[in-house]
Amino acid sequence: MGNTAGLQKEIGAISTFADLAPIRKMIRSCIQCGTCTASCPNEFAMDFTPRRLWRMVLMDQTEDIFESKTFVLCSSCYFCTLRCPRGLPLTEAMSALKQIATRKKLPKFKESVNFYSCFIESVRRHGRVNEAEFMTRYFARLKNPLIPLRFAPLGVRLMMKGKISMLPPIKQARPLESIFRSVEALEERK
Ligand code: SF4
Ligand code: SF4
Repeated sequence: MGNTAGLQKEIGAISTFADLAPIRKMIRSCIQCGTCTASCPNEFAMDFTPRRLWRMVLMDQTEDIFESKTFVLCSSCYFCTLRCPRGLPLTEAMSALKQIATRKKLPKFKESVNFYSCFIESVRRHGRVNEAEFMTRYFARLKNPLIPLRFAPLGVRLMMKGKISMLPPIKQARPLESIFRSVEALEERK
C-alpha cells in the first residue's frame, strides 16, 4: 500500500511537469485505425496496445501512460511508423515518452533505463554490443543478486546456441565515436 502511495505521488509529480503537448502534436491526426497495434511485434507483452496508448496521449491521460509499460517495450522496429496510414512518426513519439520517463527518474523505469544505457555504452565502446560486458555492467548497476539468477537459464540457452559469446571484447579504437559525438552535438542544439 505504501509503495502504491509512493508511486501515485511520483506519477502525480509527472502529470504536473510532463508536457505531452509535443507528443500530442506528433500524433494528433491519428484515426484510431489500429494498424500500429496490428504491426507491432511486441504488442503481446504490452499492457495497452499502441493504438490505445495514442488515444491516451490525445486524452492527456498522463498518469495512466506512465503507469503502463507499453512505451518501454517498444523496440524501435519502425513497423508502425512505416504502416501508419496517416504517416505519423510513431517510433519517435514512443521515444519521446521514454525520454520523459528517463528524465523524471521514475523508479518504476529504473531497470529499463539501466538496460538501455548499458547497451548503448557497450555499442559506443566496441562498435557493436558485447553481450558479456553489457550484461555484467547491467546486473552490477541493479545491485540485486537475484536478478541475474532470473536470466541464467535464458543466458545458458543462448550460449549453447552460439547466440552470445562470453569472450572479453577485442580492444579497438571506438569505431562509432564520431557518430555518437555528432548526435550529442545535435541534441545539445535542440
Ligand atoms: S496506425 Fe496511425 S492512424 Fe492508425 S491507430 Fe495507429 S497511430 Fe492512429
Ligand atoms: S516501433 Fe515500437 S511500437 Fe512501433 S511496431 Fe515497433 S516495437 Fe511496436
